[in-house]
Amino acid sequence: MDLTPTAEQTAFRAEVRSWLQANLPWEYGKGLPPHFDDLAEEVTFLREWQGRLATGRLVGVAWPEEFGGRGAGPIEHFIIQEELARARAPELVGRIGVNLAGPTLLANGTPEQKARWLPKILSAEELFCQLFSEPGAGSDLAAVATRADPVDDGWVLNGQKVWTSYAQFADWGVCLARTRPLTEAPKHKGISYLVVDMHAPGVEVRPLVQITGEAEFNEVFFSNVFVPRDQLIGPEHEGWRVANSTLSHERGVNPRQLVIHMQLLEELLRLARDTGGYDDHRIQQRLAEAYVEVRLFQLHNWRSLSRMAKGQEPGPEGSALKLYWSEMSKRVHDTAMAVVGPAAPLWFGAEGNPGGGRWQRSWLYYQASSIWAGANEIQRNIIGERVLGLPRD
Ligand SMILES: Cc1cc2nc3c(=O)[nH]c(=O)nc-3n(C[C@H](O)[C@H](O)[C@H](O)COP(=O)(O)OP(=O)(O)OC[C@H]3O[C@@H](n4cnc5c(N)ncnc54)[C@H](O)[C@@H]3O)c2cc1C
Repeated sequence: MDLTPTAEQTAFRAEVRSWLQANLPWEYGKGLPPHFDDLAEEVTFLREWQGRLATGRLVGVAWPEEFGGRGAGPIEHFIIQEELARARAPELVGRIGVNLAGPTLLANGTPEQKARWLPKILSAEELFCQLFSEPGAGSDLAAVATRADPVDDGWVLNGQKVWTSYAQFADWGVCLARTRPLTEAPKHKGISYLVVDMHAPGVEVRPLVQITGEAEFNEVFFSNVFVPRDQLIGPEHEGWRVANSTLSHERGVNPRQLVIHMQLLEELLRLARDTGGYDDHRIQQRLAEAYVEVRLFQLHNWRSLSRMAKGQEPGPEGSALKLYWSEMSKRVHDTAMAVVGPAAPLWFGAEGNPGGGRWQRSWLYYQASSIWAGANEIQRNIIGERVLGLPRD
């Protein structure tokens, strides 16, 4: 792993930084993105921001130029993420499209499918959601029971999905559905990967309120939803293979969480300065640990990045990264609660609450990090079996 930037990479970083200095909707180096109490208002703001980033060609840089990317490599993508962190930019609202659906379409879509969806994913003109999990299929995802029955020119979809983040704002969803009954084929061999129009008749989205009090994810019900044939990605019944290319993009390197935790660390250090936490040697120790852990996470990312830059896949080691950052995140948030001190149990925004309740919300939110993108027990199974060579589950 050689971490020395080339002259081109240094120039690219300077270009990204000056673009951000000129285009951020808040003051570079000082301000913060606006805070919204209403999720719909936040999504509107974030769509506009992503559109602006896409105009600067800073979204999906590794994608081919014809779809709005720059045909650049993973290192350039990573540099942008680090510069966004420095600018304290929020996460992309279209991240499911940019990080999951888009790369899957690039790898498996037809030329027409790519031309139809990819450019609008980058600009956030169209948002995607991920319709994988079901009440009876989470860790055991191949057990999906949503049915897609063949009709003329397509399929009719019936079933239920759950935990679908941002489904209430999505225009499209990438969906795993059973196209062959379990009586005819093993569970991995009868699934197809469909793009579902979230505005089609028969799609019902019901928000679920989370521990934070917000409803970011949803239940989605399909009642006789027609999906045209040209919205099948990859071959019919081979959706499991296509889905695995989506899932591999959820793990591997994680610049998004790196960006978020670099920002959190910076804010934590600022909070400790403001509250006097710095003067308490027990807190000092924990802050030092948080600093070391976030730095280690950065190095893990760089290691995976060097593999990718050499054209290698992140491989099952990606599970170690997911395991590491999600557990690190909980420790960093626990430290933040120690810094907030006696106000830690106060509900959001209460008076006298250092950080205005932001930290409590973030603590609650990141409790879920050991569940999403594959629960940590599953990551341990993968590491045990595929990295350490232990007997299979
Ligand atoms: C904030 C959030 C956002 C999400 N967004 C989306 C989304 O947009 N789209 C989507 O499709 N899904 C989404 N998910 C769903 C997520 O991927 C699933 O929750 C996850 O895969 C776990 O599935 P499950 O909830 O059904 O739990 P289960 O699979 O029922 O697991 C329950 C418990 O049993 C353990 N367990 C299960 N099998 C094993 C095993 N073989 N060995 C050891 N332990 C095991 C699990 O680790 C877990 O602790 C989201 C989840 C969260 C929390």
